[in-house]
Amino acid sequence: MEKHILSKSTFIKGHQCLKALYLHKKRPFLRDKLSAEQLAKFKRGHEVGELAQQLFPGGIDVSPQSPSQYQKSVLRTQELIDAGQKVIYEATFQFNKVLVMLDILVKTENGWQAYEVKSSRSLSQTYFTDAALQYYVIRNSGLNLASFSLVYVNENYVLDQEGALNANHYFIIQEVSEQIRSMQTEIAQEIEFELQVLASDHSPKIEIGAHCFSPYPCDFQGFCWKGTRNDLSKIPAFTESERKEMLVQGVFRMEDLMRREGLNPLAKKQLDCLLNNTPFVNLETKTFCSTLPINTLYFSFVLRQAAIPECKGFSPYQNQIIAYSFLSEQKNEAHLFSGRCGDYKAFVEKLISPLRFASQIVVFDLIDLQITLSQVAQLFPELTSELEKIMEKASGIKQRIQQGEFYFPGFTFDLELQDVARHVSKTSVFSKQAVYSDVLAVKLFEAITKNNAPLSIDSDEVESLMDYSQSKADKTRQICEALSAS
Ligand code: SF4
Repeated sequence: MEKHILSKSTFIKGHQCLKALYLHKKRPFLRDKLSAEQLAKFKRGHEVGELAQQLFPGGIDVSPQSPSQYQKSVLRTQELIDAGQKVIYEATFQFNKVLVMLDILVKTENGWQAYEVKSSRSLSQTYFTDAALQYYVIRNSGLNLASFSLVYVNENYVLDQEGALNANHYFIIQEVSEQIRSMQTEIAQEIEFELQVLASDHSPKIEIGAHCFSPYPCDFQGFCWKGTRNDLSKIPAFTESERKEMLVQGVFRMEDLMRREGLNPLAKKQLDCLLNNTPFVNLETKTFCSTLPINTLYFSFVLRQAAIPECKGFSPYQNQIIAYSFLSEQKNEAHLFSGRCGDYKAFVEKLISPLRFASQIVVFDLIDLQITLSQVAQLFPELTSELEKIMEKASGIKQRIQQGEFYFPGFTFDLELQDVARHVSKTSVFSKQAVYSDVLAVKLFEAITKNNAPLSIDSDEVESLMDYSQSKADKTRQICEALSAS
């Protein structure tokens, strides 16, 4: 069997941008270098696929041992089908140089049923395109599928008091056969386009635009955007839809933005600051930061959102505080949760005490705090009134930027703590530290608490996590101090 040219992921890449497909296959060395944080993000999601196998137990997994053995998996899948195997995991098919691996294939009295598993809480258009491609390849390679379903995560699922996960309740199964059947002509045409592009000896001429960021951030941005300023990303006041619309229209340079009519007033103000390289801080924020009471607490926290809940009462992707820090004139503390589940209530209660006595609490992102504390209140209703009192005293730096109270040239629309701190207080970035982002902190926490291993308080890993948590509180304080002096 000849080697395939397209796979599900390369087809989707080409669906987003044919040039990205070409570069991926023919000029992979031009790809942006992934940071440790981006790599950690990509590695998530496999465990949800494995859990979905519990929906249809007893299957045989035909995943290849190595990338050179995909065609072996195709043959093995066919052998199992011929032998009457009822459930096959990673069932592999190839047609017209396209190879797909379906998460679960099940034989029933009504025929073969296909299930593709997604670790998300909702279905996007890309998932339908992905399903339509699989349906096309499987049907044309000779298997008459009776139905195709997408399987995704039920965000309302709650792990019960026994702590035993029920895969039937954790997942939602949505049959999409009708929708993807109507996409078959389009899929066949697109495969032809993509194969033609890959047969060419030069990359297709495609301009930069909205497709560089959506549905996935392209990993050739460094190459294609070289020498082009994306000033649009430096104006946090643009809404998601405004940003998308302007990218589609090719409006992302300062000069194009200045010419644009009908900008929202806050975006206009931020654009002026960017043009003149001048920060803006309003009197309210300056006064707030310069008159903070002596017992103000700068509070930071690191959140973990496990796709598969491990602790009783938790839902998929629910916020769990794994580390927090306080910083004040008298206090400089960091605390790390001692395990995956452990006594979460005691951990949270320990957090409440100092916050209760603070006159003012300053956090970077107030929305994150609100969501997290309301989820804590759902878990432990007896703490609700204490948590509400904390919320009344809390103020968020990020929300002040979003409300137009201050802006510094260099801010980007995602308003990350370290970027804001770098521009407001001119402090160094976290990347000098072993752990420099929440994603890396969570990855390290998961590694050291795997199988509920006890934490070694003196270990380098624990020290790195504590340092990171403390540096978040410290950066929040530095921002406030710089704003008061501005
Ligand atoms: S950066 Fe944009 S134009 Fe370049 S390959 Fe990626 S999506 Fe295509």
